[in-house]
Amino acid sequence: MTMLCVPIAVRTPEQTLADAAEAKALGADIVEFRVDEFFNGESASSESEATAIVRTIADAPLPVILTCRIADEGGAYDGPEDARVSLFERVATGGSPPAYLDVELAAYTRSANFRQKVNLCVSHAKQVRDVPTRLILSSHDFQTRPADLSRRIMAMYAEPACAVAKIAFRARSLRDNVELFELLRGAPKPTIALGMGEFGLMSRVLAPKFGGLLTFASLRRDAATAPGQATIREMLDLYRFRSIQANTKVYGVLGWPVAHSMSPLVHNAGFEAVGHDGVYLPMPVAGGESEDDARASFKATVEGVLRWAALDFAGASVTIPFKSCPRAGVGPFARDNDGLVAAAGAANTIVVAADGWRLANTDLAGIVGPLRESLGELAGQTVVIWGAGGAARAAALGLSREGADVRITNRTVSRSEAIAASISGVRTITSEDARTCRARAHINTTPIGMHGGPAPEAMAVPIDELAHVSAETVFFDTVYNPIETPMLKAARARGCRTIDGVRMFGAQAAAQFELWTGKPAPKQLFDRLVRETLGG
Ligand code: NAP
Repeated sequence: MTMLCVPIAVRTPEQTLADAAEAKALGADIVEFRVDEFFNGESASSESEATAIVRTIADAPLPVILTCRIADEGGAYDGPEDARVSLFERVATGGSPPAYLDVELAAYTRSANFRQKVNLCVSHAKQVRDVPTRLILSSHDFQTRPADLSRRIMAMYAEPACAVAKIAFRARSLRDNVELFELLRGAPKPTIALGMGEFGLMSRVLAPKFGGLLTFASLRRDAATAPGQATIREMLDLYRFRSIQANTKVYGVLGWPVAHSMSPLVHNAGFEAVGHDGVYLPMPVAGGESEDDARASFKATVEGVLRWAALDFAGASVTIPFKSCPRAGVGPFARDNDGLVAAAGAANTIVVAADGWRLANTDLAGIVGPLRESLGELAGQTVVIWGAGGAARAAALGLSREGADVRITNRTVSRSEAIAASISGVRTITSEDARTCRARAHINTTPIGMHGGPAPEAMAVPIDELAHVSAETVFFDTVYNPIETPMLKAARARGCRTIDGVRMFGAQAAAQFELWTGKPAPKQLFDRLVRETLGG
């Protein structure tokens, strides 16, 4: 079983034990005491600090990894090595030695004297405890993948005193996770292999799938000891760490940026609710400067990561800037996809089925579904779409397929004309005509009204200027942050019906979920989770 380890920066024994108790209560298996800010190696204070550390380890409610990380490898310790090894001797002979002692490979190999003393500490501790202290030899690179990664790991495996090999480096792309997983799969000794930073999250969450000895999770967001470390609550509640096993299927959202995507929240909760053995992760892919860059990046991710059989990749959401990539000859998408992707010019979903990879566009369902719930039959109903980007095209296509009378208006007229020209039953109109036409529904697909967007306080559809507004008119905003945009607020004040962007988000996510699992999506759960998150 892969252990969940909470690192604790030791400042006082009291705070350390309180944090360790909290880590235990939250579900951690082991804690790492990072003593490098507490123990500075100066002779005047070393003795009392070492005594406090020995006592704190003895009182800890969970097994302990003792680490006094040197500055070269991201720690705070820059005192003499003699003092550091004296600390190790104290803890090894202290009556209740730690379960693991972490020492950097670089320091261990630099000095024969240091190495010999560390080995003595470990073998001494072996005699004291029933379960001996085990030596972790570790290597960290906070900048990049070290060029001599293989040499480092071979040196750890070759060292008889090394019980556990630990490699951590800043992942440069999702591809680096595959190398870390390969390392775990072929490991002759218990191994910890983790990617730091946004691209490395996958290696942290999927450590149980590939047999990692442990993974780290911070107690609180501000207590992370390495970039990209998720919190223990995220690991256990969001990613369902305990349910991840060798055959667990892997899903994710491919895009840039994806760190704040709500898709992991809903899909992981959905997998739990229907008993689907899957985990859904943010999968950041750098888009680059141009469309060609984005395609190259997407292709490399598909080929180097998603098609790696051992990952058990089973599907993905595709978001900006990659929605047009899967169609552009990128990836093994030979199978037809009900024509919607080709017509929409974009795919937001990859499905990996037993008979191959497929694409889908569930943005259509995200718009048509909620609108049908509100209006009933859409055939013959006049709907005005404001905006002419990807969401507008999906809306126009979905509504025209329902037989609605679709009219589209946009700031850049050529874009709305292009949509109207390519989808039958769609007409482009001026914004003046949009104000006077007798529409049953108005849909905003621009970012106007969006938090952090170009005009957060503005109304995307000028409700007060519309000639025909009644209690039966529906105002649908695709923007979901905030949930109630200025346009929806005004519509509600006028007594009109409203549909917010959360409904669209939930409906397109539910359609994806059903394609992946073959089971009905827990739509109410999706809706509640998103509203709680945005509302909170
Ligand atoms: P997009 O392709 O970039 O299109 C944006 C459209 O908005 C373009 O037609 C653009 O006009 C117009 N626009 C942008 N700023 C404007 C401004 N200041 N005034 C007037 N028009 C403006 O974006 P998209 O992918 O279609 O997404 C659009 C919106 O849909 C996003 O804001 C997002 O919140 C929402 N969305 C929601 C969901 C959901 O699940 N709820 C899913 C997808 C998208 P020009 O053509 O003149 O540039």
